[in-house]
Parts: sequence; structure tokens; C-alpha cells
Amino acid sequence: METINDLQDRNFSWHALSKEALLEKLSATELGLQASAVDQRQVLYGVNALPEQQKLSKLRRFLLQFHNILIYVLLGAAFITALLGHWLDTAVIITVVVANAIIGFIQEDKAENALAAIRHMLAPKANVLRNGQKEQVAAVNLVPGDVVYLEPGDKVPADCRLLSCFSLSVDESILTGESVPSKKDTKVSTVNAALGDRHSMLFSGTIIKAGQGVAIVVSTGELTQIGQINCLLSSVQSLNTPLVNQMAVFAKWLTFFILAVAGLLLAYGLLIENYSFNYIFMAVVSLSVAAIPEGLPAILTITLAIGVKEMAKRNAIIRHLPSIETLGAVSVICTDKTGTLTRNEMTVSSLITDKHIFKLGGEGYAPIGNFSLNEELIDTKEHVLLDKIALASLLCNDATIKNNGEAWEVVGDPMEGALLSFSGKQGLDIDKENRSWQRADVIPFDAAHRYMATLNYNHEGESYIFVKGAPEQILSMSSQQISSDGNTETFDLKYWQEAAENIASEGQRVLAFGLIPVGIDISHIARKNIEGNIQLLGMVGMIDPPRIEAINAVKECYSAGITVKMITGDHAGTALAIAKNVGLKKIQKALLGKDIDALSDAQLQEEVLTTDVFARTSPEHKLRLVMALQAQDEIVAMTGDGVNDAPALKRADAGIAMGQKGSEAAKEASDLVLADDNFASIVAAIQQGRTVYDNIKKVISWSLPTSAGEAMIIIVALLLGLSLPITPIQILWINLITTVTLGFALAFDRPEKTLMQRRPRDASAPIIDKHLIWHITFVSGLFVCAVFAMSYMSLNQSHSASHAQTLSLNTLVILEIFHLLFIRNIFNDSFSFDFLKGSPILWLTICLVLLAQIAVIYLPFFQKIFGTTGLAFNEWILLLGVGVLVFMLLELEKQLRFFLLNTKHVKAF
Ligand code: ATP
Repeated sequence: METINDLQDRNFSWHALSKEALLEKLSATELGLQASAVDQRQVLYGVNALPEQQKLSKLRRFLLQFHNILIYVLLGAAFITALLGHWLDTAVIITVVVANAIIGFIQEDKAENALAAIRHMLAPKANVLRNGQKEQVAAVNLVPGDVVYLEPGDKVPADCRLLSCFSLSVDESILTGESVPSKKDTKVSTVNAALGDRHSMLFSGTIIKAGQGVAIVVSTGELTQIGQINCLLSSVQSLNTPLVNQMAVFAKWLTFFILAVAGLLLAYGLLIENYSFNYIFMAVVSLSVAAIPEGLPAILTITLAIGVKEMAKRNAIIRHLPSIETLGAVSVICTDKTGTLTRNEMTVSSLITDKHIFKLGGEGYAPIGNFSLNEELIDTKEHVLLDKIALASLLCNDATIKNNGEAWEVVGDPMEGALLSFSGKQGLDIDKENRSWQRADVIPFDAAHRYMATLNYNHEGESYIFVKGAPEQILSMSSQQISSDGNTETFDLKYWQEAAENIASEGQRVLAFGLIPVGIDISHIARKNIEGNIQLLGMVGMIDPPRIEAINAVKECYSAGITVKMITGDHAGTALAIAKNVGLKKIQKALLGKDIDALSDAQLQEEVLTTDVFARTSPEHKLRLVMALQAQDEIVAMTGDGVNDAPALKRADAGIAMGQKGSEAAKEASDLVLADDNFASIVAAIQQGRTVYDNIKKVISWSLPTSAGEAMIIIVALLLGLSLPITPIQILWINLITTVTLGFALAFDRPEKTLMQRRPRDASAPIIDKHLIWHITFVSGLFVCAVFAMSYMSLNQSHSASHAQTLSLNTLVILEIFHLLFIRNIFNDSFSFDFLKGSPILWLTICLVLLAQIAVIYLPFFQKIFGTTGLAFNEWILLLGVGVLVFMLLELEKQLRFFLLNTKHVKAF
């Protein structure tokens, strides 16, 4: 293979070579590479991928944790306390900052790994011919010389030269900026042809818009055109969502506000109350440190990262992070039928000819099974017409089926796989027929025309156009039918329409077959040659059972206030039968694509609410349906798989692409990719979206009142001229121990059990609303009262000031723990087994905090630092009592609010 190194020449004119020269240069054939050649070339050329963007060094990423206004303020406070000689306070503040940075760094790393793992799951695939067999491989494994198959929606996996193509057009805008798709052919171009004029070339990263092509890979990875313009793989996206950004801005303003309050208090203490500078300054510093929610960003990030990971575990891969929030607010899911609600495991079960309806037996895709007529087994060879239908389904077909040792599997469209299996059952030898019949041209299937046609001829001088497609479509293009005895006759439209309706109403997907005999000299087919000339052969009905998980998931949607709409290209009868099987509600009628065309936007907005089934739709209808639902204030999740679904996927609030049968174009336009194409995974993603939002809300609802409570204790003491119930260093300690522990427990918390029994949240409502502000006020009020009461009681019992302060310190910690327990159930009653069970991480963090508290008040070393004393057993009991009391008050307030607003399970704060 001495030419192989020449392939590294970036500017080689592949487009100017003849086919023979091309194959010679690549040391390859049109039949694909052998495994040994692939291995050899993979070593020589490496992976077919663009270089990744350089990641920042670990040190820089760690240092960046300090680049935050909240941290600057804390560092400023540490600096000034050091200047004043309060070394201990400085040390605690620095520990808060460093601990926060370490946690932030670790979490960011974990979050990035979660996203990188997802990107790996989204790696594009390519259909290639290797060892003479069609197979699907990861696009990164392609090598020069590989023969690849391309169809609409595919992203070209490497730079390729076309070997053959039918009506191929490609969107090359990422390379040429030209938005109109360029038409491709196999003709040689001149050496100097511009990129856009190299019609026989396909470039990596461009998208196939229409047609089919078979091409040979000429350059991979960095050597491709896109690699040469120094295009880097988009770096891993950062864990940012609108909510996180909103919170970052909020935290910034909160910091300014806290600084302003601190400044005013400083002035007030110095000028009006005449406190010493040292005293008032330390009080103000501890107030600021306590009130600044420095741990919040890290907790929000980890909450999102956990969400992303959990979703991936449930087969839902987030591509566009902000949609994790939107998913939680989805109120309507518009879903495909085949593969999503059904299993996409097709089997031909009925066969209709001009006189008979045959039933077929057999399992899976194995080409073995009996035919029966009126419940009696028949010999198919006695029915000549069946051979013709089987031949049409074998030749007008792009799939292959193979036995993998255990079962028969399909490479390509499962529906076409089922047709091959049917041909086999009819007794045709698939390989032999494929060898004896050549395909001269094809009109590939597309959702707008709903049929596919191939031009085939054999060496015995026979030549036909075979057509298969949706029955209405084929019937509208037919002029005759072929009768059971093989003669052509005028066709009976009514008979066929009724037969199709009957089979469809059983939930079977119906496909009609026809042929047009043509002269051997014809080498090209055009739509106009087909329309009106078809001789109808018959129809098949295919069963595709509903997914059991989908039935349960649909139920779950209804209980969660989410409507499910089926949008399918299939027959209305089939769609309604499947809709009934999976449990959709508004199924009295199906709205057809042509009905949608006849409606104005305003009419469609009305109509869209009255039915759940939309049949015989094309991708353009999906876009109109999304817009109509959005005009009704719905938050819409829409699924899609084809290249033309991209606009609807982009327009939907949550665009969902199918990971298995979806095209690369659909995936690129989507927010979420379903690894298993399963409807139940959409519902799992919504559930996870709701969990993430709830947990973010809980983190915020826990941390803001905690910070506010701590700050209020100092503010009240200073304003009322009371001595501080807790010393500044103790406040700093609480801040250190609680922010790095308790808040995280919420990020990992399980969803509340009624998560999917609530209506979707209002997507436009701000997270910090009047209810949350009330909660902050209420909780911080309780904190202040409890701490002052405990301090007063202790002093009244003639305990020392340090004992009273220790009691206050512990009161605050206990209250934070009880507030945390309360916050876990903001939508439900707290008293349940689930509540008691908690989560391991919750109990672990609580134990950690309590152990730290015990250390701080009993170990002499810490007693010296923090000015604490040991507490008696009955004081611990008292603390527990205060915690329970505050918890009960919070629960009472919640129950009262539920009762007054009648909003149980609907809204928390
Ligand atoms: P679903 O929601 O069930 O996935 P869809 O929206 O993907 O359906 P299409 O793939 O657009 O539906 O198919 C619409 C109709 O076109 C089918 O009901 C079938 O009659 C016909 N059809 C589908 N695939 C082919 C094909 N490969 N060749 C010929 N006709 C086809």
C-alpha cells in the first residue's frame, strides 16, 4: 500500500480523479474494505475526529473558583480581620473560602465529566460496507477507503467522493455559507474547481437534505475540509442555565445589599451606639460572611450535574443544558408513534390481494412462517400474485436482515426488515433475487410524498418500476390492478379503501404495493412517469405492538397534568387504534394533515386542544402544531427524527430527537436525545427536570432563610443595643460547617413522592417570589426569637456568657437541621415513612454536623478558639425540643397555607 502516505496531502484534488484512479489511489474497491485493512488504516490515520479544545489546567480552574464577587468580599473581610490582629477569625474565613473553592472545583470536575460522558453517548454513527456487509460503526472509526451509505438527515462523517447517488442534495452552509442545498452527482470536476463546485464530493459535517448516496471516504479527522479550517470540537458546555445565571446575578446584588447594610450598621454602631471599632467591625464582618450565600453556586451546579447524570441513566441525554429546567415545566408532549409509543418491531401479519386477505405467522424478523386463508394453511405457490408482491417488497427496499446466531436482526428501517422477512416466508431467496435484479434508479421515501420507487431489471429482459407506500398515495397513482390470476384489470378503488381502513383500525400499519412494467432501455425514473400508471399488486398490514412502559408513562403524564398528543405520518385508523391501546384520551377523531392545512392559525389553536391524534401529517405540520399549542400558553415537548423535523424541534420548548432512528440533523436541532427512542424516557426526563427544579428551589429556600436568620440575629442585637447572643467567630463557624454540608444534602435528595401528581409549574414565574420572601421572613424571625430566648433563659439561670453563647450557637445549628428536614417536603405533609427514611446522604451530613458541634463544644482546644463550654444533657433535650417546636410551627404554617390557598401539591413557596 505504497500510496497510503500520499493520502495525507491536504490539498489533493480528489474531485478531479476518475473513479478508477480514485479507487486505485485509495487502494480500495466499491465493495468496501476488509477488516485487516481497516485495522491497518486506523493505526496509520488515527481516529476520524477533530481535535478537542484545550482544557484549562487544573490549577487555573481551581484559581478561577476564587474569581467571584462573593469570594472577593470574603477575602476582603479576611484581610481586614488580619490587619486588626483577629487571626482566628481570619483563619475561619479563609477556611470557608478555601473549603468552598475545593468543593466547587471537585463538583465542577464531576459536572464536566458528566457532560463529557453524555457527549460520548451522542457520538455519530455511520452506515458502512465492510467485509462485504452493511454495518453501523461509530463515525470516529472510519478510515480512508471505507464505503459509506448516506440518506436524508445524515451528517456526512468524513470527506468523501461519491460512487453513486440518486437525487442527492446537501446543505453545505457550514463550509460555504450557501444556505441553498447543493445538488450532487458523480461527475469529475476540474482540478481548480471551488469547493462549492466539486459536485462529486461530500464534506465532513455537512447535512444530507434529500436523496441517497454511496460514497468512499477520502480524508478523515483533521485532514478534512472542516478540519483544515481549524475547527475545533465544541468544548464541553458549562453547567449554566437561565436559573443559575439568574441566581448568580441575584447573589451579586445581594452582596452589594449586604455590604450596604453592613456599612450602615457600622456607622450606626460607631456614631449612635458608641461601640468600640473592634467590636462593631467584627460583628459587621461576621454578619456579612453569614449573609453572603457563597456556597450556593457550587450547590446549584452539582444539582444540575446530578440531574444530567440521572437523566442519562434513564436514556435521556441532555444536549442543551437550559432545557433541563424547561423539561420540568412541560405541559404537552407531542410524540411520534412508531418506536416511541410502539416497539418498532414490525411483523407483516396480513396480506390483501384483489380477492383474499391472507394471515401470516412467524416470529420476529426470521423469514420463516406460514400463510393462512380463512384460518386454513395454504401453499403460497398456488397464489402467483404473492410472488410478485414479495418481489416488490424485496427489491423496493433498502434494509437487510441477518441471523446473528441467536435471532434475526435488521440493518436499516425495521418496517423494511419486516418486508424482507415476508418475502423470505413467501419462499424467495433474498440474496439470489438481489443478485439477479439490478437497481438502476430509485426515488427514496420521503414524508411529503409517502412512497418509494425503484427501477429494477434482470438479465432475462424484464424491467419494472416497483412502488410501495401509504395506501391513499398508491391508490391515487394507480390506474389498474393485478388480479389473483396474474391479469391486469381496472381497479376497484372502494374495495381497496375499505380493506385498508379495516386493517388500519386493528392498529396495523398498512402499505400498498404496485408495479409499472417498463422497457429495458429506461434508466431513470421521474415522479411524473409513476403518477397514474401504477398497477396495484396488493397491500400488507404490519403489527407493531405498543410498548408496555409507554402505557404506564402515558398514565403518569395524565396524573402529572401533562397532555400527550400523537403526531404521526401514519394512517388515521392505525393511529387511533394505537392511541386507544396506549391510553390517550381525546381519540374520537384524528385531525389529518390536510385538515390542518385547511385551518387558519386561530382555528388550529382551538382545534389543537380538542384532539390528541394527528395523522398523515408531514414535518411542516409539526411546526404549526407547536406554535398553536404555544399560543395557548402550553410548554411543548416535541419529538422528531427526520431532517425536516428540525424547525419544529427548534421551535418547541423542549425538542426531543430519537437516538436510534433519528437523523443527525434532528439530533443537532434538539435539546434532548432519547437513547432508546422510548416514550417512557421522555416522561422520566420530565420527572428528572421537575426533581432538579424542586431541588434547586429547596436549596435556595433553605440557604437564604439560613443566611438571613444568622444575619438578623446580629442586626437585631446591634439595633436594640443588646449584647451579641453569638460571637462573630461562632457565626463564622456555623457558616463554615453548615454551608459545606447541609445544603449539599438537598442537591442529592430524592424527589417527593407526589412529584408526578402535581400540575406542571408556571414556567414564567420567578423562583424568588412573594411566597419565598415570606418564608425567608418567617424562618429568620423564628431563628431570631429562638436564639434570643435561649440566650436570655441561660443568662437568667446565672450561666456564664460563654455558656449562653454556646447554647445559642447550638440552637442555630439545630434549627438549621430541622429547617433542612422541613424543606425536604415543601409540597407534602412532612410526617410520613418516607420522611423518616430520609436519604443516606441526608443523615450522613446531619451526623457530620452534629459531630463537629460536639467537637467544638467539648474539646478544650476548640473551646479555647471558639469560646464555647460543654452543655449538660438536659440542655441537649431542650435544644431538641426547640428544634421540634420550630419544625411544628413551620409545618403548621405550611398546612394553613395549603388550606387557605387550596394549593396542596400545586405550589410550595
Ligand atoms: P410514526 O409516527 O408512526 O413514526 P411517521 O410520522 O414516521 O410515523 P412516516 O415515516 O412519515 O410516518 O410514514 C408515513 C407513511 O408512509 C407510513 O404510514 C407508510 O404508509 C409510508 N411509509 C413509511 N416508510 C416508508 C418507506 N420506507 N417506503 C414506502 N412507504 C413508507
